Amino acid sequence: NLDNYKLSPVPDNYRLWFEYAAGSIDQLNNDIDTMIIQQKAINEAVCQKLFIQHIASHDQRDIDDTRIAIGDMLNVMVGHLKEWDSSSNQFSDKLNECIRKLDNNPSIGEVKEIVTTVTDQARQAHNVNSKIQTTLHNLSDEISTLRQDVNRLGNDALTDSLTQIINRRGYDVALKNATEKATEEGSSCALVVLDIDDFKRINDTFGHQIGDKILKFIASTLGKNVRGNDILARYGGEEFAIILPDTNFEGAMRVAENLRKAVVARQLTTGSNGKVIGRITASFGVSCFRHGEDLDDFFDRVDKLMYTAKQQGKDQVIGDR
Ligand code: GH3
Ligand code: MG
Ligand code: MG
Repeated sequence: NLDNYKLSPVPDNYRLWFEYAAGSIDQLNNDIDTMIIQQKAINEAVCQKLFIQHIASHDQRDIDDTRIAIGDMLNVMVGHLKEWDSSSNQFSDKLNECIRKLDNNPSIGEVKEIVTTVTDQARQAHNVNSKIQTTLHNLSDEISTLRQDVNRLGNDALTDSLTQIINRRGYDVALKNATEKATEEGSSCALVVLDIDDFKRINDTFGHQIGDKILKFIASTLGKNVRGNDILARYGGEEFAIILPDTNFEGAMRVAENLRKAVVARQLTTGSNGKVIGRITASFGVSCFRHGEDLDDFFDRVDKLMYTAKQQGKDQVIGDR
């Protein structure tokens, strides 16, 4: 597949197509199959996006599973240690009792009883001990699995758990790749930054849970209105960034204007009782990467344009080449 689609033989691409061939991540296979059926271009940018969305987040779930397993194991361990503590106390109590009895001219019957008691206690202590050993053994296995997972991933997950789109960290990785490619190929790379208008008021009026639902809705609306190559990220709270590879300023302005319209198009209501929330709006900044520019400076430039859009009345796009 790497050859078919002229993809570079980097580890992420190998892993992506390995998982696809293995069919281990349903959603990944659905997405790729859909793209093949719709004859969409499968290129480096698309692969990177698929990798971040499906594989990195999948890895994070593996890590979460292992973390839960280790938590369970530690609880079992603590239980064993408590048991051990109380049984060792009991053991010494019984031994003291036996010593007292031995000092008191015991009969043959009593001596036999003492021997039985000591043997029983020793057996019980041994049982608790071997339970602890088994748990310790399992625990060290679990920990080494976790360590492997962590090494494989190398950093935090790149996907935002609320909206299931790329998070700030994913954005950093994607922007670095996209701008390096733009520099190499002498192509244009645009950035759109948008921030939802008056979101604090929406949270205050309808509650944080409705706020979260609106964030999900906005993320999916934005996702539906950008191309496969474009990379949509949740940059922070109610602020999103969209990287548009191979896109010039005019193209990026058109994309941003479409997104603005798509966001205001829907009259929202709360799910349960259908209370009207009304239209959500957002303010947009747009610009293109200047070759050699620092990536934080690039973002700040576009972020400032977005703020200008806020100052000029919100629900609008402000761009600057
Ligand atoms: P402006 O139009 O100037 O952007 O005003 P604003 O109210 O949107 O901006 P402000 O920065 O004052 O407030 C942002 C609000 O976004 C505050 C915060 O509670 C909310 N917010 C940020 N992240 C989340 C989130 O994950 N869920 C919810 N429900 N709200 C969030
Ligand atoms: Mg806001
Ligand atoms: Mg904000």
